Amino acid sequence: MMQFRDLGRQYAAMKDAMDAALLSTVARADFISGDAVRQLEHRLADYCGRRHCVSCANGTDALVLVLHAWGIGPGDAVFVPDYTFFASAECVGSVGAIPIFVDIDPDTFNMDPDKLTKAIDTVKKCGILRPRAVIAVDLFGLPADYVRLSHVARENGMLLLEDAAQGFGGKLGENVAGSFGDAATTSFFPAKPLGCYGDGGAIFTDDDELAALLRSLTVHGKGDDKYDNVRLGYNSRLDTIQAAVLLVKMDAFDKELEAVNRAAAWYTQRLAGAQGISGPAVPQGFGSSWAQYTVLLGDGINRAAVQGELKDKGIPTMVYYPKTMSQMGAFEDVLTYQTDDCNVAKSYAQHSLALPIHPYLREEEVDYVTHRLLAACRACR
Ligand SMILES: *Cc1c(COP(=O)(O)O)cnc(C)c1O
Repeated sequence: MMQFRDLGRQYAAMKDAMDAALLSTVARADFISGDAVRQLEHRLADYCGRRHCVSCANGTDALVLVLHAWGIGPGDAVFVPDYTFFASAECVGSVGAIPIFVDIDPDTFNMDPDKLTKAIDTVKKCGILRPRAVIAVDLFGLPADYVRLSHVARENGMLLLEDAAQGFGGKLGENVAGSFGDAATTSFFPAKPLGCYGDGGAIFTDDDELAALLRSLTVHGKGDDKYDNVRLGYNSRLDTIQAAVLLVKMDAFDKELEAVNRAAAWYTQRLAGAQGISGPAVPQGFGSSWAQYTVLLGDGINRAAVQGELKDKGIPTMVYYPKTMSQMGAFEDVLTYQTDDCNVAKSYAQHSLALPIHPYLREEEVDYVTHRLLAACRACR
């Protein structure tokens, strides 16, 4: 069976450096807030061109921490794309605010800036909630349209948060994911573009005060030392061992980005013009880190049957995402505030199919997947 994301091949490619990093962390035994954590934070801040990187326990905490630090809570509206991983919207509920779901752009799968403007206007007119922040997601590795989104956020006096959990390594013009918005977050979940060997996350910002507050919140609201607690916080730290893993992975990251872009180009070339299959678009000036390679299957094609056929041939596929945020039972009671029907997102939930992609995928494997996919789509009408 082919791997959806082959972490075994990645380990094999960096085994000596990884083994050494892991063993030396164990030998030093600085498991909490060790040297590698500070090193990694400096390296990632540098990579993203930000003043600060504050690491934490996972990408979900990263989002919650930023919203908490911004003082977002009950009575506030936070605008989130309807088509994303649950955590992008869950964090809003975690701080007691109301998520407002915004439809996606049909070409990029990312938040549609025009529909965001409309949703903000409607919420303002209703006058029940205060529009406070926008969480834009770099879905499948492609940065959202931050040129337009930051304009909309600024015009409305709102904060902008980039959820780059999938986007790390993506680009927009000369800027990389993690550099957009008033703050950005990422996740080091193993299957993300930059993944560790467990859970991990980070926050990026240029705001000195925000960074200092985040450092306090990640360690129980510490003051000058950790037994002087000046506020309520969290226990949300990145393990030293995970930071050590990430430092080794950062050495290979730019090469991996090139490789995964080659793999995506193989797919795109082989699927060009295919009947009933449309591939992902990367607009001019953007670069993707290809967290996923997601195609849309045409109306007459039975997606579940295609997945079954491919599975029989040893090809794993995933549906990202089978339900949109506004279709989740968890958000049933906030739907009364919903302003947008999010029909593009709902349709994509029915038609999207993610194919295996990672930097270690081989050209003959892409040949095999595309060949089988085309045959399955012909057979499953
Ligand atoms: C994975 C993911 C998260 C959450 O990250 P965790 O580290 O798993 O908590 C948040 N947002 C998006 C878009 C993600 O894909």
